[in-house]
Amino acid sequence: MSHGSLKWKPGSAVPYAALCKTFELIDATTKRLQILAYLTTFLKQVIERSPDDLVACIYLCLNRIGPEYEGKELGIGESILIKAVAQATGLSAQSIKQDVAEQGDLGTVAQARRGHQKTMFPPPPLTVASVLKTLREIANITGQSSQALKINKINKLLVACKDNEPKYLIRSLEGKLRIGLAEQSILQALAHAGALADPKVEKMGEEKRAAVLSEAAATLKHVYNELPNYDEIIPAMLTHGIPALPLHCKLRPGVPLKPMLAHPTKSLLDVLNRFENVEFTCEYKYDGERAQIHLIESGDVMVYSRNSENLSVKYPDIVEALPQVFKQGTKSFVLDCEAVAWDREKQCILPFQVLSTRKRKDVQAADVQVQVCVFAFDLLYLNGKPLTGETLQTRRALLIEHFIEVPGVFALAKHMESKDVEEIQTFLDEAVVGNCEGLMVKTLTTTSTYEPSKRSRNWLKVKKDYLAGLGDTFDLCVIGAYVGRGKRTGVYGAFLLACYDEEREEWQSICKIGTGFTESDLTTLHATLTPHIIPSPRSYYRYTDSPNLTPDVWFAPHAVWEVKAADLSVSPVHHAAVGLVDRNKGVSLRFPRFVRVREDKKAEEATNAGQVGCENVVGFCFVCFVEEAGGVEFEQ
Ligand code: ATP
Repeated sequence: MSHGSLKWKPGSAVPYAALCKTFELIDATTKRLQILAYLTTFLKQVIERSPDDLVACIYLCLNRIGPEYEGKELGIGESILIKAVAQATGLSAQSIKQDVAEQGDLGTVAQARRGHQKTMFPPPPLTVASVLKTLREIANITGQSSQALKINKINKLLVACKDNEPKYLIRSLEGKLRIGLAEQSILQALAHAGALADPKVEKMGEEKRAAVLSEAAATLKHVYNELPNYDEIIPAMLTHGIPALPLHCKLRPGVPLKPMLAHPTKSLLDVLNRFENVEFTCEYKYDGERAQIHLIESGDVMVYSRNSENLSVKYPDIVEALPQVFKQGTKSFVLDCEAVAWDREKQCILPFQVLSTRKRKDVQAADVQVQVCVFAFDLLYLNGKPLTGETLQTRRALLIEHFIEVPGVFALAKHMESKDVEEIQTFLDEAVVGNCEGLMVKTLTTTSTYEPSKRSRNWLKVKKDYLAGLGDTFDLCVIGAYVGRGKRTGVYGAFLLACYDEEREEWQSICKIGTGFTESDLTTLHATLTPHIIPSPRSYYRYTDSPNLTPDVWFAPHAVWEVKAADLSVSPVHHAAVGLVDRNKGVSLRFPRFVRVREDKKAEEATNAGQVGCENVVGFCFVCFVEEAGGVEFEQ
């Protein structure tokens, strides 16, 4: 390989050094194509020399230890890592901390310090498989002396590290690799490597090969969206090749697929324009929590959240009630639904705020306080057959045929078909009166397949807020807080929020927020944020260091809040979407207001920089800019 990556003997385990070398090459460039080329070359070597290690290589690239939906995460606390680095280097934790404060990154510090340490009997070189195995062991350690056991294992790895290995090992343990390797790029590189492993493809003319590679990437991404499990996909890919993959890896109950998402629209007229020549249906947009409900052939039921978290422990009542809602002979299915708070006495939907008071863990069906009713709007799998490729009309017909509505427990999403704007307006008004958020408008026949993980233009959301002239809300990560004064003494008075830039893997400050909180919100937020305090900002936070803006307390990226804003402006101090709207300046929210905590979103699922930088998610139409003193304002 021309760019100096490490080679190893065919048939032997992939050295961790070879992976770290590839990480270093990727880390040194921001060019997408270059990143793709480095990773493809490495993965192709793995396929040719050590195919059994391919799954482990992919997990380490993703910085995961198993399928995302299994929810096992690394993210070892900073203090444990500092202790482990101190032990491995023979230095004090204090001096390591000082280095981190100066250099901003424990991985870099570990690498620099490790270099000075000599061992009498060097342990054997690390392999990708052994590192993943140890990372899994570390993640599984619980109980009393877990901290010491974790430090011990990390220490053993660190002692065996060479060259740049400590840097990437520490970053993996922190839970953030930060080399600009997004999952979509990994999938693409894996597909290219898989296709190029066929000598026929390698020998093709450039144009033909490019077409084969692009087809391979599309196939692999499609398969992954339906069955997000590399442990199953990679062995099948190695045995059957990518073109045949959809025959072997299909959507299956028990494995949550990534839900289809909707596009915001500004008005019903906008909807009618977009769907001028297609058949469409309008559904109530229920305001609760997305619930993907699976029944597997054994009779087990699982409920998954929008981000594939297993919610079965939160909703034992749904699990318990499920057998009454499907007809005899129904053996397996995947339903796409919204779980909504329900008033049993008045037989009506309650607002989202009521649902948000429901406990998330250790819930017993018998003592559930907040009742929920499930509104099903799609059927993605039925009795051994995936339905994602069918039209919504077909999927809905099967939903009606095989399921039974049980008042206050299970219902089908209310829908109506009309092209008359007044009729749709009336339907929307009824939805809002019924405590719904608005409407979802979906193509019904042509181009109406279910598109997992896509924010599709075949699903349009019309929220009451958009119609009131407000934009869509933002889901932002809380990265810092300011100590409260006066009435807010003892809690935080304001917070620093950030959006996520997937390309750069960084959180970019977008606004300071202090409005929209009740007193009890502030008390709860103080308590829930405190465990996430970190001594200094992460090296991947982009913010402006100034007396007015630098928070008193920093948080690890964890909490995501939904926030409303009156407007957006190009900002001299905030960094969201920098480079997208203005070359050097970011975007900030004007008059931000706290709406609610988004328990169902991870920090990386916060509104991303691309969304802030374009009108799509926002629903604000900032088409032209008006120069103003101190910045540029968007005109609505
Ligand atoms: P996004 O999912 O767009 O990132 P979000 O999670 O804030 O943002 P919304 O913008 O409110 O969600 O809209 C999509 C959500 O609406 C779905 O994820 C689902 O939970 C909910 N929903 C309620 N009713 C329906 C319906 N009839 N069809 C599809 N989704 C519905």
